[in-house]
Amino acid sequence: AQQRTPIIAGNWKMNFDHLQAIAFVQKLAWSLKDVRHDYNDVEIAVFPPFTDLRSVQTLISADKLSLSLGAQDVSEFESGAYTGDVSAPMLKKLESAYVIVGHSERRAGYSESSELVGRKAAAAQTVGIVPLICVGETAEDLEEHGASAVPVQQLIKALAQLSADAEFIVAYEPVWAIGSGEPATPEQAENVAKALREVVREQKGDDVANATRILYGGSVTSQNIAGFMKQPNVDGALVGGASLKVDEFSRIAQYKK
Ligand code: PEP
Repeated sequence: AQQRTPIIAGNWKMNFDHLQAIAFVQKLAWSLKDVRHDYNDVEIAVFPPFTDLRSVQTLISADKLSLSLGAQDVSEFESGAYTGDVSAPMLKKLESAYVIVGHSERRAGYSESSELVGRKAAAAQTVGIVPLICVGETAEDLEEHGASAVPVQQLIKALAQLSADAEFIVAYEPVWAIGSGEPATPEQAENVAKALREVVREQKGDDVANATRILYGGSVTSQNIAGFMKQPNVDGALVGGASLKVDEFSRIAQYKK
């Protein structure tokens, strides 16, 4: 993981209106202020709901905060008659560096296929946004096929939709570990991350495989983050519940302590 910049990413899901988002980011920046110089090599990113992006963007740029910004979903289309959707060019205008695609809550709740997830990732790349592609197996998948089979297939199908040789991030998020308080072990996360890196190697070659950041997500806390970050193929974490508490998210970001 040495040559890859680790990233600690907070997925807020459908939490915080824009006023709460402003208060939260101000507190987070304050909490990271004294430690940030020790952490220049760790990227810290927040993924607020669409309605908060403009406020958070303004705060980050006005105060020159060293926080990255991302959105939680994007349309596969550039513009048009898609009521309720938000396009990649719109997110780009808001200086979103990243966008999550294929979160298991969207795969399960909105029947998103890996092909659609790949097309959304491609739409993001077209405008220079880095897609954060989520993959992961359910408890039933785990029992039937083992840990890596389903995430590997999901990633193969998503990557097949990417034409550009542009950056992407992969997040391995076992569905059974999300919001359950039962994280994977660091060894389980490492095994699947390693298998996913081999998929990237087969589809995109050595250079891309070595440069691509692969994150673990699922019940990450300040108590267990260090174990994941020690794994050679785990380059960061996607954090849900624990990203909504300033002190806890800040402690996670300081995992080296
Ligand atoms: C997530 O949904 O991306 C996630 C990792 O959630 P949690 O940390 O709450 O398990």
